[in-house]
Amino acid sequence: MRHLGNLARSLKSDAMTMKSVCVYCGSNFGSDPIYTETARAMGRTLAERGLRLVYGGGQVGLMGAVADACIDAGGDVLGVIPDFLHHKEIAHPRVQDMHIVSSMHERKLMMADHADAFVAMPGGLGTMEELFEVWTWSQLGRHKKPVALLNMKGYWDKLVGFLDHMRDEGFVESRHRDMLLSAETPDAVLDALESYEFPGMIASLERAQT
Ligand code: AMP
Repeated sequence: MRHLGNLARSLKSDAMTMKSVCVYCGSNFGSDPIYTETARAMGRTLAERGLRLVYGGGQVGLMGAVADACIDAGGDVLGVIPDFLHHKEIAHPRVQDMHIVSSMHERKLMMADHADAFVAMPGGLGTMEELFEVWTWSQLGRHKKPVALLNMKGYWDKLVGFLDHMRDEGFVESRHRDMLLSAETPDAVLDALESYEFPGMIASLERAQT
């Protein structure tokens, strides 16, 4: 598939300037208005910092809030939505660069290809799946791009605790646990992404390549 080729090429690229950020987040608003406020702050901050938003293309929940705020602040937005979700998540009518693809796999590859970094904001199962997939691609050396949690209101605290447990029990290398950055505000998370250095892929793969 075309996008796999692009991902593989990104492995070889040198450290690059961050120009676009993929935001994964809920298709719901969550129970506290602070989630929507932070999603709007994220969209606005991306626009102010001249960073392109790459996201799932919907106008529902936090996804819609990030995109609306980014567009309102004059930012650049790329959306990727699969045709079967086109009605349920209603492709955002204000996103000019909208791509309708045929599957979830194609969507995730296209989002990954077009982004220089990834942030997971509060969300549900879809957000978790997207976060873990892009993080495992990095662990396997398929890309060198940074991945972060926007951990506002301690939303991800229990997950962070479990990830530390996975490391402590010897199922995740320490440096791969540390790959997942975390910060509490949009500006802090973007600063963390910008200063990231790729720590290397899993040890057995590195040995196989030398
Ligand atoms: P959620 O976090 O469940 O509200 O979903 C957020 C986004 O993830 C939405 O755009 C969903 O279409 C997407 N999504 C839901 N399930 C999956 C999945 N299994 N794989 C990838 N994305 C998903």
